[in-house]
Amino acid sequence: MGTGANMAHRYGKRYLYKGDVLGNINYDAPDVPIQLANEAQGIPWLVRWVEKGVTLILLCGCANYDTCHRKVIYDNVKAVLGDRLLEYALGQRVMTPNGAGVIDASVPLHVQVMRNRYAVMLDVWNPTRYYSLDQLEPYNSSQPTLLDTHEHLHEYAARR
Ligand SMILES: [Zn+2]
Repeated sequence: MGTGANMAHRYGKRYLYKGDVLGNINYDAPDVPIQLANEAQGIPWLVRWVEKGVTLILLCGCANYDTCHRKVIYDNVKAVLGDRLLEYALGQRVMTPNGAGVIDASVPLHVQVMRNRYAVMLDVWNPTRYYSLDQLEPYNSSQPTLLDTHEHLHEYAARR
């Protein structure tokens, strides 16, 4: 992962900075619940993209997905779209940060969906077996759009 400027350069129009709408305004106060900067605008905006069939990958600087506002964003979108939101299928070919593989068919799908992470059998062995949704993309997806929801970038850019 790089800085916003790097990512914009690397992915061009497929990279969108949305931290001003989808960032967590309480990011510097870990004891305060996550609150998206503009949920009323941001979630419907995301839903429209997903309904058009665009693959969106939410980006942030956090290592832990479970405490990141990306999970809040995902849960909100899921609440609107329900079954229409893409989930991975057993045996489906996917790309992970550690290379390509398939969703492990020996773990029931509902367990993987409920845990919000998928077991992946990689083509090239790697000790990391589990991946969250934001770490996966359909292998054949030609042009996923990278949505940067990292709330610090705005400040960073403003300071420079
Ligand atoms: Zn985060």
